[in-house]
Amino acid sequence: MKKNNAIFITGTDTGVGKTIATYALGVLLQSKGIDIGVMKPVQCAGDDALFLKEKLNIDDPLDDINPYFANEPLSPHLAFSRAKKKINSSRIINIYQAIKQKHDLTLIEGAGGLMVPLGKDCLVADLIRAMNAPIIIVARLGLGTINHTLLTISQAQSYGLKVCGVVFCETTRIKKGVAEQTNPEAIEKFGGVPVLGTVPFLKTKSRKEIVNRCDLNITKLTSSLRDTKTKKLAALDKKYMWHPFTQMKDWQEQEPLVIDQADGCYLIDTKGKKYIDGVSSLWVNVHGHRKKELDVAITSQLNRVSHSTLLGLSNTPSIELSKALVDITPKGLNKVFYSDNGSTSVEIGIKMAYQYWQNMGKAKKKQIAHLANSYHGDTLGSVSIGGIDLFHKVYRDLIFKTIKIDFPDCYRAPIDKEYPSYAFECLDKFEKLLEKNHESIAALVVEPIVQGAAGMIVWPKGILKKIAQLCRKYDVFLICDEVATGFGRTGKMFACEHEDVSPDIMCLSKGITGGYLPLAVTLTTDKIYEGFCGPYQDLKTFFHGHTYTGNPLCCAVALENINIFKKEKTLQKLAPKIKFLDKRLKMFYNLASVGDIRQMGFMVGIELVKDKNTKEPYPWEEKIGVRVCQRLREKGIILRPLGNVIVIMPPLVISQTELKRLLDATYDAVEEVTHLSSL
Ligand code: PLP
Repeated sequence: MKKNNAIFITGTDTGVGKTIATYALGVLLQSKGIDIGVMKPVQCAGDDALFLKEKLNIDDPLDDINPYFANEPLSPHLAFSRAKKKINSSRIINIYQAIKQKHDLTLIEGAGGLMVPLGKDCLVADLIRAMNAPIIIVARLGLGTINHTLLTISQAQSYGLKVCGVVFCETTRIKKGVAEQTNPEAIEKFGGVPVLGTVPFLKTKSRKEIVNRCDLNITKLTSSLRDTKTKKLAALDKKYMWHPFTQMKDWQEQEPLVIDQADGCYLIDTKGKKYIDGVSSLWVNVHGHRKKELDVAITSQLNRVSHSTLLGLSNTPSIELSKALVDITPKGLNKVFYSDNGSTSVEIGIKMAYQYWQNMGKAKKKQIAHLANSYHGDTLGSVSIGGIDLFHKVYRDLIFKTIKIDFPDCYRAPIDKEYPSYAFECLDKFEKLLEKNHESIAALVVEPIVQGAAGMIVWPKGILKKIAQLCRKYDVFLICDEVATGFGRTGKMFACEHEDVSPDIMCLSKGITGGYLPLAVTLTTDKIYEGFCGPYQDLKTFFHGHTYTGNPLCCAVALENINIFKKEKTLQKLAPKIKFLDKRLKMFYNLASVGDIRQMGFMVGIELVKDKNTKEPYPWEEKIGVRVCQRLREKGIILRPLGNVIVIMPPLVISQTELKRLLDATYDAVEEVTHLSSL
């Protein structure tokens, strides 16, 4: 079995000796019994590809080793446009994959340095990223080289490329002064990457001369070959990690899928296989992975300050983000309180509501109401207002008492009841409860319109509005947990907008940073905020805060996330995709196992049932949802189910073609797995 590895050889500049260094590395690797492949994907004049093919005795055809050749010694974007040819990077990748599979290790020589344009939207660095190969940087020795080499290392790292080392190359006979002798040491010290050695000026360029005179550290290279990397990581994962919501006994018996990179709507594993991120990395990703503007927002903030506390201090990005959030959220939400995950944003909402009434002298107003089937997170406060027995029952003795409001799962309303009228009936019951007990109820917490973790239960139109009216009438705060629904998921920026509702408290997280970093906010009104203001000795202060509250990196990326929504008209572009999704989802009803399809915007739940007529569920031990998602991995799609409900929640920027692929593969996987299970 070939090891299927690759290393990309780039340089600090043109003419630094990439070809000679590639040749020398090739010879030394071959002398260790390693089967070498080579590529020079793009060449402008010269005969580097032919030189490598002949000198290293490579059998692959020259057209594969060098698929793109232009005659003029210019930057590729220019040389190829003048030659009226276009470089197709997908074609390069296909050839590269084929060559790579034939050899233990393929050395790919670049054109110029990392930031050399291959075409309008593609630099050499983009090609390397698509190849998913670590790089070696070839540098010359001498004055000025530290600057060029450190710039190249830093640029490579900010592009997410793995630098496995620097090789110095003497392309002419040089006299080694202080600069030349100390360059390697300086690069290791300031660049933080290994220097693999120097290729001296080669008189004969013979294999013998290379073996005898080049002291490149090949062992460092071969030990980072990718196959061993995947196995090593899997073993370390099993040895040291405990995964959330996971039966670790099952985990130990499987090969974990280890994600190493991502690009747009795709996740890429350690073996280089690409998967559509069909659940947006747990409902968070909005504009795709490695979105340039978001990357830049983080790196530029990184160069200012990564963290400073909001306890007693403020910081620039958190102030700017607060304003931006107040501008885009429903009217009346004017104050922003930061935290770092969805569960805490809800706990903060509960504590705010509770303490407000205490501060106002209404000591009896203490109880928190929530809906059946609700999910608001995993900390004990949010578990207290959770209604999903599977997750929450075991902690019953640890949590505080709440008022649980009956609320139907639209698919499984009681037999003698009709949905949606039954949902309104439940609210009538809630009103009766409020009439009697409102003086002891501080707040009602809801996931507006879509109850996500319960299986994407979508409320009938008008329910949220009615809930808001009841809360207002009886002076009970409405807390809308938009952790899952916020930032465009339902087709509008916030689910509350569908019914023109402005809650007293709104909790946001997940999509707030475009899926980049953990951040959450709890927004509230001036009225609630003012209820906490008073003389210090009155102790009305909100005594709550987390170490990373308002972290500048998170706030900077969140701010840019909001900018992109505006700049790229994300929601306008989403509308036709929602329509397409809606239409294609109807086809799933053709499948015998599909009982219900629930959709609101880009939140989808497909409930699989054993018997469509009786709605009999698949027994949970059959893990039907998990099996469908496992089948999907083989098809290059990542989904995560909620029991028997297949959840589809791709990044908002997914293209219609990718969406179609995702839906078609899901359709097939459901058909295949449920068919097998009925045999
Ligand atoms: N609230 C809702 C509606 C959620 O869907 C979730 C998570 O899925 C949470 C809160 C908890 O968020 P986190 O996992 O960031 O604590």
